[in-house]
Amino acid sequence: MVYLDANATEPLRPEAHAALVAALAVTGNPASVHGAGRAARRLLEDAREQLATRFGAAPADVVFTSGGTEADALAIHALGRDRQLIVGATEHEAVRSAALSANVLPVDRDGVADLDALARLLEAGGPALVCLMLANNETGTLQPVAEAAALCRRHGALLHVDAVQAAGRMPVDLRSLGAHALAVSSHKLGGPAGAGALLLAPEVSALAPLIAGGGQERGRRGGTPPVATIAGFAAAAATAGDASPLAALRDRAERAAIEAGAVLCGAHAARLPNTTSLALPGVRADAQVIALDLAGVAVSAGAACSSGKVATSHVLTAMGLGPLAGQAIRVSLPWNATAADVDAFAAAYARMADRLRPALARPAA
Ligand code: PLP
Repeated sequence: MVYLDANATEPLRPEAHAALVAALAVTGNPASVHGAGRAARRLLEDAREQLATRFGAAPADVVFTSGGTEADALAIHALGRDRQLIVGATEHEAVRSAALSANVLPVDRDGVADLDALARLLEAGGPALVCLMLANNETGTLQPVAEAAALCRRHGALLHVDAVQAAGRMPVDLRSLGAHALAVSSHKLGGPAGAGALLLAPEVSALAPLIAGGGQERGRRGGTPPVATIAGFAAAAATAGDASPLAALRDRAERAAIEAGAVLCGAHAARLPNTTSLALPGVRADAQVIALDLAGVAVSAGAACSSGKVATSHVLTAMGLGPLAGQAIRVSLPWNATAADVDAFAAAYARMADRLRPALARPAA
């Protein structure tokens, strides 16, 4: 199997595996006062410090969660209270479903948020919480988050950044972005699934919990933390950080697909180096995913297809791509992708396109 679905989940990094296995040998609960508890607490606090350093926050301002979805939900629940919500049109469901009555911030044809529209929304309404992702999960498009943060601060608004796909692939630093909150997820950067974190700016760090429980995480997230998983998360975050060497492989995959008839979505935007969104006019995304899977190549449809329905990507729809929004696959290279993987993809894609493209879309023989 050639695995090109890193944005769904990255392969576990060896450093994360080693840290996870070592930490599993520690028995204590970090809330316990005895020696075993203290040993677990040391692991937890070491991990907190590593993540704080990596992503530009104070250790006390790192709140561990079960993953990116919970980190987004916590930020919106706590920081969005009594504020109007403004949410980028291409945000992940983790944000959209937690911010149901939000004003939508439009994007251009490459998926980049319209900051003039943001300024107008901030001027028109009362105090706001803005949610803008750093990198899109389907297209890899990067958002002008630092500029949005400056705009938000000028208007007394808060900015929450979903950095789930960016973290581990490009520099991510809460302080230098100027945002108020930032969500990251372990399994998206080569750690084990089941842990994430919300990093907070000092002025909002005392936030109300979504799950109160036993007051863990300074009262901001109840529940016994999964110490070994978090140790693996921190080790992965310390190792990951720059996916730019993948850009050449990604570009090669793109060139091969375009040669076979694909249209590149978000072509003119700054993008994550590992991600590409490729539409094949006239061919449903799920048919492409199945054909590639049968050829031994794992990619995903632009939008997750649940309950057997044919999904149309809200991301590509917001970019104005019309029917192509149901005809795009996402290819996302993992940290350990090789040239051989890309060659296998290129060959499988060309065969798939040749078989599935409607006759009208093919060049004349
Ligand atoms: N945000 C983005 C941009 C994502 O791509 C994802 C997962 O695909 C999430 C949030 C949710 O993260 P998790 O799977 O850790 O809950």
